[in-house]
Amino acid sequence: MSHETFDDQVAAYALDVLETSERAAFEAHLAGCARCERTLRESREALAAVALDGPPAVPPPDVKAALMRRLAEETAPPRRRSDTRRLWLRGAVVAAAAMVVGGFLTGMFVAARYEAELGRVARETSRLREDLARQEAALQARVTAYQAVVDLLRDPSTRVIALKGAGPSPTAEGRVVWHETAGGQVLITKLPPAPAGKAYEMWTIAGGKPTAAGVFQVDASGQAIHRVPPGAGPVDVFAVTLEPESGVPAPTGPIVLASAK
Ligand SMILES: [Zn+2]
Repeated sequence: MSHETFDDQVAAYALDVLETSERAAFEAHLAGCARCERTLRESREALAAVALDGPPAVPPPDVKAALMRRLAEETAPPRRRSDTRRLWLRGAVVAAAAMVVGGFLTGMFVAARYEAELGRVARETSRLREDLARQEAALQARVTAYQAVVDLLRDPSTRVIALKGAGPSPTAEGRVVWHETAGGQVLITKLPPAPAGKAYEMWTIAGGKPTAAGVFQVDASGQAIHRVPPGAGPVDVFAVTLEPESGVPAPTGPIVLASAK
């Protein structure tokens, strides 16, 4: 038996559609043939890749079922002696079809697998680039805010007001670096990240009336720095409440931080 026969049988073997006698002969040969072993491994890897994430348009089980059906017809006992040659020819055709289909599918599977891998790498790269851009923007915003705090502190009329944790976050702490006409910056630590759909909202309270001073989130370590616009009048109290993400015009949620009156 020339090796060409085994070359033809590898794909059919990987698809598990070899006849019992053929399979035994192929397996006996496979035990000592590195070339067939390699080809078989590649075919199986390709099939496994498709089973995991292959194109649903080419389902291997259907192909296998079709080949099994044809092989069953081919191996059925001949009714007449004169059928023998025709059956032999049909067997050859089926073997060739198995080889062609197997090779075609293997090619498609390998292509699909590499395309999926390329797509995955491209998505990963783009995600890393976005993460980096986001981190850079956050860092830049923080540097700008710290610079604003330093600038405020150069002005002798700037005050630093302590905020104490309250309600659901008693351990939270804050400082408002505050200039009555320029506004200021609030620096917060130890405040747990807001639940999904929620944000923290800053309030400047003047003459008993709260004015919204922007919503913000804390980072994973519970820190935030947030710009506070000047109040409607001289500010008596600074407070932070937990509110819906988009912010509200008047406080509705619990106070999480507040200055002493
Ligand atoms: Zn071989």
